[in-house]
Amino acid sequence: MDQSDSLAFPQNGAHRVRDDWYEGFAESPDVLKSAQRQQTIVPVLDMEIGGGEFITMAGPCSVETEFQLMATANHVRRAGARILRGGAFKPRSSPYAFQGHGLEGLKMLARARDESGLAIVTEVMSEDDVSMVAEYADILQIGSRSMENYALIEAAARSRRPILLKRGMVATVADLLRSAQWVLDNGNPNVMLCERGIRTFETATRNTFDVTAIALLKQISHLPIIADPSHAAGHRDLVPALARIAVVAGADGLLVEVHPNPDKAWSDGEQSLDFAGFDNMMVSIDPYLALRGQEPARRERGVPHREPSGSRSMEAVG
Ligand code: PEP
Ligand code: MN
Repeated sequence: MDQSDSLAFPQNGAHRVRDDWYEGFAESPDVLKSAQRQQTIVPVLDMEIGGGEFITMAGPCSVETEFQLMATANHVRRAGARILRGGAFKPRSSPYAFQGHGLEGLKMLARARDESGLAIVTEVMSEDDVSMVAEYADILQIGSRSMENYALIEAAARSRRPILLKRGMVATVADLLRSAQWVLDNGNPNVMLCERGIRTFETATRNTFDVTAIALLKQISHLPIIADPSHAAGHRDLVPALARIAVVAGADGLLVEVHPNPDKAWSDGEQSLDFAGFDNMMVSIDPYLALRGQEPARRERGVPHREPSGSRSMEAVG
């Protein structure tokens, strides 16, 4: 459908916003929209992220077992995801918690790509690991806790792999854009920004989903923006609503945690969708994509719209 024929979502950022607003982002001039550059399209395998297709990245928080990863990859592909997420190197609050399988996890991700055809996004936490992770991944994720690790970001940028740059949990939009500028300064134009919730005084949810930042970034920056409703919410029951809100706010894609048995997940189980929950979330965003004049995700025929597998209490939200 022609965008102009759609039920008229305003086209954010078609015009340059107020000059005084831009002054707040003076340290990152090249990530801002300009007459020359209105939208960056990041090529990943056969996809164009930031182009016409809304891209869903889905998978477990951590790569745990071959079975867990393959089952999830095959399921999310059938439900319309295009990219498989999964951490082989995990940033954890405690150094004694599961830190990820490292190289073995990367190899499992590469096998999942071969089997499913999905591209792979996975986090790199250390400068020393960049070349190894870049050998297996299609997109390098810079995690929230690393958003200001400029040595890591420089090494990741120089790998020439596309970068998914997650907003630090206490980072402003200007801080996020400064780090994105650093990727560009290191010769890599293929940056995607990720809003994953920020710390606020609110403790009822894991983070506060800053939907304002998504709308703002769509106005001021030409970089694709990916929304992560899972880390924002911290609870699976909230994830589909935040995903729909992200679509309406103009996000170019989603990063969502999915696990075959979330209650048994080695990390972030409370916020991971099970397969039925993911199917329902994917179906529920379709009308909002249609409002934007975009096609629904390409689902394999026969993937049913299943009802949620039971609501869980909100008590576990931390
Ligand atoms: C993750 O994506 O699993 C993750 C650790 O995210 P964040 O860096 O946003 O906390
Ligand atoms: Mn996680």
